Amino acid sequence: MEEKIHTKIVRMDSENIDPEIIKEAAIIINKGGIVVFPTETVYGIGADALNDEAVDKIFKAKGRPQDNPLIVHIADVSELDALVKEVPESADKLADKYWPGPLTMILYKKDILSDKITAGLDTAAIRLPKNQIALALIRESKKPIAAPSANTSGKPSPTEASHVIEDLMGKVDMIIDGGSTNIGIESTVIDMTGDMPTILRPGGITKEDVEEVLGRCEYDPAIIKSSEKIVPKSPGQKYRHYSPKARVVLYKGKAEDIAQRIAKDYEKLQSEGLRVGIMSTVQTEKYYEGKTTICCGDRTKPLTISSNLFKDLRNFDRMGMDVILSEAVDEQGLGKAIMNRLGKASSETIIV
Ligand code: AMP
Ligand code: MG
Repeated sequence: MEEKIHTKIVRMDSENIDPEIIKEAAIIINKGGIVVFPTETVYGIGADALNDEAVDKIFKAKGRPQDNPLIVHIADVSELDALVKEVPESADKLADKYWPGPLTMILYKKDILSDKITAGLDTAAIRLPKNQIALALIRESKKPIAAPSANTSGKPSPTEASHVIEDLMGKVDMIIDGGSTNIGIESTVIDMTGDMPTILRPGGITKEDVEEVLGRCEYDPAIIKSSEKIVPKSPGQKYRHYSPKARVVLYKGKAEDIAQRIAKDYEKLQSEGLRVGIMSTVQTEKYYEGKTTICCGDRTKPLTISSNLFKDLRNFDRMGMDVILSEAVDEQGLGKAIMNRLGKASSETIIV
């Protein structure tokens, strides 16, 4: 059994920073401790990125595989030079336009960043988040802060403090509760080390956003492949990620068609004695009268869906569901990131 530590929980409005709490949190970071804080994407579990022992605590608390590198957070673009070998003009342009924001850039690292944090790669992932609590903490501690999502590895990322408490109570020194995060899914990870800017993980900054600034951008083929998995029954453990305890079945097709099919499958699964929940949208609620649903958001406003997605998956678990039937959404813009997370959370995709 791992030894439990005392976790202090403090509440702070991200628009009204409490400097005393920030000071206390920065002392914890500088002593090699762990502080969970909100960002505009999801909550991050933070430690001094230049302290291997502290970084190791993040891996342990999350149960994160050692070969999955962490994102390093900074509070000002000027801090980049100390961490990476060179900043190509294209990266500068993206930073100018989208930092602070949900964009993580992969750049060649300097030796100051250890193999621990980059999992032995010669590159590092750097982000400048858009949340006053996160920025104040980085500034006050005067350290780059390593901060992956503050969930147990494999589970849906946390978008409110209660999710963090569920996963990490007794494993971190402090949790700063800054309310709900607004985007609700993780940052876009973009590789800037080659000629072509390449999105490794879709997120809040879209391919179109990058193209607008640089004129070009591609997706890593692995993203396209994993979101195209069309197998009626694929446990695909290695693809599962962001997963609630319940089995997630993803339905792709026209909204009305998938809603009708989901309604039918719901009846069938329920008659087999399973506890079934439907992840619906504003546009399809009407097809599910009398059934257990959580409305994730509005199809015409993908931000409403991204901000609720992980919370709703966790809520189905709290309700004790065995199966979640989830509608796919349009893969345009932010929809690409939503579908990437749903694709990884699900063990089966049904094309209607
Ligand atoms: P998280 O911090 O939980 O949002 O996850 C960070 C994501 O960034 C993971 O998907 C990592 O695999 C990815 N990542 C971090 N560093 C690198 C790197 N140097 N090269 C490629 N991907 C990275
Ligand atoms: Mg994560």
